[in-house]
Amino acid sequence: KGDVKGCFIKNAFVIFTVAAVIIGIILGFGLRPYNMSYREVKMFSFPGELLMRMLQMLVLPLLVSSLITGMAALDSHASGKMGMRAVVYYTTTTIIAVFIGIVLVLVIHPGKGSKDEFTKQQQVEKVNTADAFLDLIRNMFPPNLVEACTKQFKTQYAKKVVNVKMTVNDTIFTLNDSQEITQVEMIPVPGSVNGVNALGMVVFSIFFGLIIGSMGEQGKPLKDFFDCLNEAIMRLVAIIMWYAPIGILFLIAGKIVEMDDISVMGSQLGMYTLTVICGLLIHGICVLPTLYFVITRKNPFVFIAGLLQALITALGTSSSSATLPITFKCLEENNKVDKRVTRFVLPVGATINMDGTALYEALAAIFIAQVNDYVLNFGQILTISITATAASIGAAGIPQAGLVTMVIVLTSVGLPTDDISLIIAVDWFLDRLRTTTNVLGDSIGAGIVEHLSRHELQKKDPEVGNSVVEE
Ligand code: ASP
Repeated sequence: KGDVKGCFIKNAFVIFTVAAVIIGIILGFGLRPYNMSYREVKMFSFPGELLMRMLQMLVLPLLVSSLITGMAALDSHASGKMGMRAVVYYTTTTIIAVFIGIVLVLVIHPGKGSKDEFTKQQQVEKVNTADAFLDLIRNMFPPNLVEACTKQFKTQYAKKVVNVKMTVNDTIFTLNDSQEITQVEMIPVPGSVNGVNALGMVVFSIFFGLIIGSMGEQGKPLKDFFDCLNEAIMRLVAIIMWYAPIGILFLIAGKIVEMDDISVMGSQLGMYTLTVICGLLIHGICVLPTLYFVITRKNPFVFIAGLLQALITALGTSSSSATLPITFKCLEENNKVDKRVTRFVLPVGATINMDGTALYEALAAIFIAQVNDYVLNFGQILTISITATAASIGAAGIPQAGLVTMVIVLTSVGLPTDDISLIIAVDWFLDRLRTTTNVLGDSIGAGIVEHLSRHELQKKDPEVGNSVVEE
């Protein structure tokens, strides 16, 4: 009896979270016939909005403190090696993801048919690919750190999606005012999270942590400060985790209540949706687990089971940044991944490593080419794979950021950026799935990097996880 109770308590989070998803879906579909007004939907999903806010509140201090302490804990030799392994992992998995996306979209050819099935009106300001690339690099070096933490970061270009009205197979749907506002609000600068320049903070924290680590005794007060900050934030996360299932329930139910009525079955858009789902499943269920198994010789599905709450939070929030606090908890507590690894690999991963987004961007760009009867040559497909990789690095870990950075991919091969509106209808859904894949990719990366770095990690005090290497 005691065992059953123990098992229940141990898995309570997962049980509550899974139950929240199921109840959320049932409640959402149950309430749809009542045609709730915009205000009613907002009130109904309020508990979900609170969860998003609570998680986002923690992201910046968590990101900065974990990176600084993570880097300060390692000597430059060890962190260099770990950094290299992480970068090789990020690059390899992103390239595989892009490859899967491209092969699937070329084989399945979901854009077959005519563009007449879509009619649309919308305006998208043209963006130059070079501008976007320069912005990405600019944002790595914020001129003012305080501003980078607080203010909407200015960009060299702006993109607006306004008054989107479109018809998909005779079903007209219009994004209402509220959604327009969300669309405009989520126009981020590459690398920014809710107006915060996350990429800039990541670059700064990495170097700052390294310097503190190299200062020995002199750097200790700062190291202790950030260590303590990190610990305190993680304790806050532990409290929020109890609230997470309620938030997820209302986030999912609220989204189902407000989603537009479109029938995509059998249409080009339906095929496109299936192709993306198929690609994300291949990457998330076959490629990443196989890679984990080949490298670590451990059961990948036991590892994934430990991540369940983070994966479901990603599904509920569509934001890998907002999920970051939960990802930390799952990896450190359920999967017992060394803190020195998670503190480095997770914040960087959540900001730049997005396998799901890369797969989706390449696939979506080729889909748009197919819909336009535009035949791509090999060079163009190669360009798409390179820009999709860059666009996934530049995309912030916030809802639908990938849709925005896709402008870079489309302009690189001369495809009409206006045609992003063709896929907006299903993006909220695909976004949730690719965010889950992104979080999975970051987490498996932490497991693999830990395994590969075990020799360097053994040299140090495993208890504290932040002592300096013994000479
Ligand atoms: N929502 C995704 C994430 O947070 C980014 C994207 O739009 O692809 O990981």
